[in-house]
Amino acid sequence: MADVDKDILASLDTLEKEEGSLPRLLQFFRELLNIQAGMKEKVRVPRIENEEALRQRLEQGLPLLDFNHIIIDMPLFQEHFARVVSIYSKYPDLFGEIPAAVTEAGRLISGEAVIAWLTSGELPAAFSSSPALAQSVFLAVLRPWLVKYATSLASLVDQDRWRRRVCPVCGGVPDFSFLDKERGSRWLVCSRCDTEWAFQRLECPWCGCQEPGQLAYLADDQELYRVYTCQCCRKYVKTIDLRKTEQKVLLPLERLLTLDLDRQAQEKGFTAA
Ligand SMILES: [Zn+2]
Ligand SMILES: [Zn+2]
Repeated sequence: MADVDKDILASLDTLEKEEGSLPRLLQFFRELLNIQAGMKEKVRVPRIENEEALRQRLEQGLPLLDFNHIIIDMPLFQEHFARVVSIYSKYPDLFGEIPAAVTEAGRLISGEAVIAWLTSGELPAAFSSSPALAQSVFLAVLRPWLVKYATSLASLVDQDRWRRRVCPVCGGVPDFSFLDKERGSRWLVCSRCDTEWAFQRLECPWCGCQEPGQLAYLADDQELYRVYTCQCCRKYVKTIDLRKTEQKVLLPLERLLTLDLDRQAQEKGFTAA
């Protein structure tokens, strides 16, 4: 199992011992992470054959991962889909009842449908009745593939040159960010593959607005967390300032430990991606 997954699971176990029990969302996340980590072990990523061609993609502003070349073992994918859906269905209090169409469609889904979703976010027709749930399920199912590819490709990214609003590996949008320990430089974290990339402090990662008067942040008392907001597009991104803590920070877990920040930002009328 990857070290970050082990660390997250250990951290959740510690939290459970300290608190007596975990909130339902974290219980769900722990179950999901367990099977995603298991699937990551099974996913095989081909060796990089032509680094120069990949660097050319970045130069052209294209993410490294060409989804037409991603290799997904469909029987493995379908089996994993069923396991992920069975975990979602244990938490109707969080997600509602899972429509039978979603479970059924996962069993029959084609490789083309998976690529269409990755490329354009377009869902197969069977999922149209519950699009938000389906987006969440799809991402949970595909995460082991995306993270595994990202791990093998991330070192090709020239962090000084990319600095775009989408992930340099998979083209996904950020859903978290951090200020690094060394210089307080800003990094965004991909919502799909967890890749981290350097980004300007004074630019909205959603709409590209660079007017200082439109960009602001809300901070907590310890200033460990910030929520960067943009008046141009009314969106926000959560941030942890790593200069303010000596603790080991697990970014994929921070997303879930900071739901209070989402509430505060949303109360002020801002929306997430
Ligand atoms: Zn990504
Ligand atoms: Zn904006």
